[in-house]
Amino acid sequence: MLIHLDDTISQLGDDLTPGIIGSLEDVAAVVRAGTHIVTGNISTLRYLASLDCLGISARSAFRGLANKYAQFASIKSMVTTFAEIILSENTPTASRRGDVDVISIPLAYVAQLNLRSPTEVIYEEIQDDFIYEIISRWYIQEKLSPGFLNRNYRPIHGGGGRTHAVYAEAQRRNNQFCLCVTDSDKKFPTDISGTTSAEVRAVNDIHQALSSHLDLDFHEVENLVPLSFLKEKCTSPTSQAIAEQIKGVDAAGFPEAKLFWDYKKGFSVGGLKQLNGGWDYWRAALGLANLSCPDTCTPQRCQCEVLKPWPEKRAVKDQIYQYAKMDPSECELLSSLWADIGGSLVSWCVSAMPKPA
Ligand SMILES: [Zn+2]
Repeated sequence: MLIHLDDTISQLGDDLTPGIIGSLEDVAAVVRAGTHIVTGNISTLRYLASLDCLGISARSAFRGLANKYAQFASIKSMVTTFAEIILSENTPTASRRGDVDVISIPLAYVAQLNLRSPTEVIYEEIQDDFIYEIISRWYIQEKLSPGFLNRNYRPIHGGGGRTHAVYAEAQRRNNQFCLCVTDSDKKFPTDISGTTSAEVRAVNDIHQALSSHLDLDFHEVENLVPLSFLKEKCTSPTSQAIAEQIKGVDAAGFPEAKLFWDYKKGFSVGGLKQLNGGWDYWRAALGLANLSCPDTCTPQRCQCEVLKPWPEKRAVKDQIYQYAKMDPSECELLSSLWADIGGSLVSWCVSAMPKPA
């Protein structure tokens, strides 16, 4: 996270209570640890470096920041979320300023926090980190100049249906930055979202400003993999045919369909008809006739496959686990989703120093 020291801090004057001094020492400790980027206007940083009430080490941390001022100041224009430390008596608050989300933390409150810890990123499954890393790296390379930023975060395993409990606990502590990432499990745009994201939404307390729910709307992480990549790495006739089918939905005017197809299980007529609106959507997207099931089908067991399950799951997984380079530019919708995801993740995880190996 980028933590900006607001100009009002240089108006502290002689009003330096032990609590305020403790908070400033803590900010200096964050500067030394490098787990987040601390910035401020040069006058504020010089003021802090001049404070006699701070320890030598804290003052030299602020002096070092003042010297690196230019290097870090430009990063503020690259993030979509940042934190600021302000003079106020209240609790942390979140607000939107133009296109940017701002977390305002009162200076006196800093002493209650554990800002030296890196941002926690809670995933439904810890392995989700691989694909989100691929997207973050793409984002840094494609969208940011100078094209290089350090990041430092701790990935946390939500554990599927337990994700909301892990996130609720992080919110209850409310003492460090935490982002919880979920997908919607939806099989078409107007489908009802799955329980994992619904439960996180239900526990999410937007007043706990240090944490946030990145509530993403697509079926599962494999839907983030560009079709051209799937086609290149999976060459079996079935894979190629599925990829062509999904590509066809673009031409039919349903570019969003690629975010909702069921990569793992595929689709059957009976299965889709069980979902309210599912059959109508996919019938139009895939350009199918109005098929009806023979008597041998039950809603639970339907043999009328309209989209097969992806056959080469292992190959895709291997590529993801090797952080293979992928490019979403074939699809405007996917590119914009990648940019939103990359912007959020990079902003929440940006750091002054790289993560220790
Ligand atoms: Zn059937």
